[in-house]
Amino acid sequence: MAETLPFDTTELFVAGRWRAAEGGATLPLANPSDGSELARIARGRAADVDAAVAAAQAARAGDWGRLTAAERGRLLGALGRLVIEHADLLARLEALDVGKPLRQGRADALALARYLEFYGGAADKLHGQTIPYLAGYSALTLREPHGVTGHIVPWNYPMQIIGRSVGAALAMGNACVLKPAEEACLSALAFARLAQQAGLPDGALNLVTGLGEEAGAALAAHPGVQHLSFTGSVATGRLVQAAAARNTIPVTLELGGKSPQIVFADADLDAALPHLINGGIQNAGQTCSAASRLLVEQPVYDALRERLAERYRALRVGPALADLDLGPLISARQHAIVSRYLEMARGAGLRIVAQGRVVEEAPAGGWYVPPTLVEGAGPAHALSQEEVFGPLQVLIPFDGEAEALRIANGTPFGLVAGVWTRDGDRQWRMARGLRCGQVFVNNYGAGGGIELPFGGVGQSGHGREKGFEALYGFSTLKTVAFRHG
Ligand code: NAD
Repeated sequence: MAETLPFDTTELFVAGRWRAAEGGATLPLANPSDGSELARIARGRAADVDAAVAAAQAARAGDWGRLTAAERGRLLGALGRLVIEHADLLARLEALDVGKPLRQGRADALALARYLEFYGGAADKLHGQTIPYLAGYSALTLREPHGVTGHIVPWNYPMQIIGRSVGAALAMGNACVLKPAEEACLSALAFARLAQQAGLPDGALNLVTGLGEEAGAALAAHPGVQHLSFTGSVATGRLVQAAAARNTIPVTLELGGKSPQIVFADADLDAALPHLINGGIQNAGQTCSAASRLLVEQPVYDALRERLAERYRALRVGPALADLDLGPLISARQHAIVSRYLEMARGAGLRIVAQGRVVEEAPAGGWYVPPTLVEGAGPAHALSQEEVFGPLQVLIPFDGEAEALRIANGTPFGLVAGVWTRDGDRQWRMARGLRCGQVFVNNYGAGGGIELPFGGVGQSGHGREKGFEALYGFSTLKTVAFRHG
């Protein structure tokens, strides 16, 4: 193993204790920058998930369940401070494990800390209501935790997604079972260690690493879980929702997207330019809210294409620790998927407008692809409809607002959209007309915005995380009516 990691990666965290998976099986974890084996992780299975759910139930019935909202908030605040203190370590782990350029990993660590601060601060600020009712009665509502919440997390932004789901769930007093993706677990393992150091009571947070079809499926189907938060692919989301249906529990699905940024001819192109590109290539395009479609109004199409192309040619791809514009993709599988789309982009009728460059120092075993700007794929083409999950952006010209809306809304997804225009009335019409969960006007920043509710419509999923809204999702409402005469 080329890298010495600061803790044993082959253990699960259950009931406040670190231990091997039942039976002691492990799985390899790869370094995407060179394809080498970075570490091994515990291969948790159904028995480990059973133990984690039991530990969470015990925590709810014990020390964790007895804490006041203010005490939970204070613990989350302390955990947030530890995350900040360890931001460089977390960024390094994420670089090795996910292939993220260091500064992106650091930004993710700071976002995780910010979620913990935000939800820690909010823990005691979600109040019930008193309700005017019949004569001789008083009625009120109580906001209560679901109980045990399951969190199934993908590999692309482990820290941010843990922050927004586990952070909000803990703030409301749930006890959590976290299942990180088998491709990237190190920051989740480090987070659990920091939670322990912060003094979170045993069992409030449990972590089971393992395969999706084993540990993930066992968690999704577990009858002891009262709420599921899933972030990942549409196909797996459907399985998780079906499992939740069998136990009649609520589920939040944060799935994929084919998000557009729409540039009108009157836009401030200088301001838009960096966002148009960064929104598509950040994290090597492996972002659910990636701006994978750039819709540009005809009068500025040619000029903007040339400006985008010039910037594209300057983009550099290389090992995560080199901290360039882009790192590698997460896995050989993802590399094969994105490479297939790049082949498609070279197909008849399409044109590669510009590409960035993989640097010569990039190890041959790493999973690198150059960021690529394509034109000529009409709105119905697979490249304009399917989520690539790689650094590939499609340029699509349009003529006027109505056509922009038709193209923008013309995919099965609906996660995020960006609109660039100086016309105030049009800003409102577009914000109203777009079918998605978030609209950014003259900016594009779904990755940040801890305070902003986030989630999709259509195949992008349902339910909202982030912001105050998440606290409603991670709690349930009880109505109490008193008859007192
Ligand atoms: P994935 O669905 O394969 O895996 C996501 C998680 O689900 C992993 O932890 C995995 O182990 C687990 N899993 C896999 N099979 C399972 C099963 N049968 N039962 C239960 N859990 C199972 O997705 P991926 O390829 O790792 O992630 C990429 C996808 O995630 C993309 O489509 C992307 O758009 C989406 N995504 C969405 C958001 C969002 O907030 N909307 C954020 C990040 C990623």
